[in-house]
Amino acid sequence: MNSQPNNMNESHARAESLIAKEHVEGISPVEQDWLAAHLRECNQCSANVEATQQALRSLLSLQVTAPRGLAARTQFRVRLRAQEMRSVRQPRWRLVYLMCGASWIAGAATAPYVWRGLEWIGHRAGLPDLVWKMGFGVWWALPAIVAAAILFAESAGNTATRVDLNKNF
Ligand SMILES: [Zn+2]
Repeated sequence: MNSQPNNMNESHARAESLIAKEHVEGISPVEQDWLAAHLRECNQCSANVEATQQALRSLLSLQVTAPRGLAARTQFRVRLRAQEMRSVRQPRWRLVYLMCGASWIAGAATAPYVWRGLEWIGHRAGLPDLVWKMGFGVWWALPAIVAAAILFAESAGNTATRVDLNKNF
């Protein structure tokens, strides 16, 4: 290594450009060796490397905290997940329909007895035919009413989940 002042200045300049180049496009093994050798001898360039790394570190940490877009993207992903979970819950609708169907079949099987029972009660109480026949209609529609109530509660629950999610962000 030449220690003449003029050459030393050239070396500093070369080291400086190599330090910058190292972080941008990388340097060849020969350049790495030369730079390492120069840094061992030169406190000025070692300080330069330290300062460059410090600047890069703060730049990187700035990049980590800076993008508010990341928060928005995360929020979007969470919303998407919530939507997914809601569609996963969809089979419960099928369960309700199934229960509905089963109770309607059971209802059809027991209809004659209910009809006769209501007729008997209606006649005992001296009610007009229309009243106990309407009672029969309500009994027949009961599974649908219960199913509607369950579905209504379900959708109300979903709305509540969505509100909670929004509150968290
Ligand atoms: Zn130097």
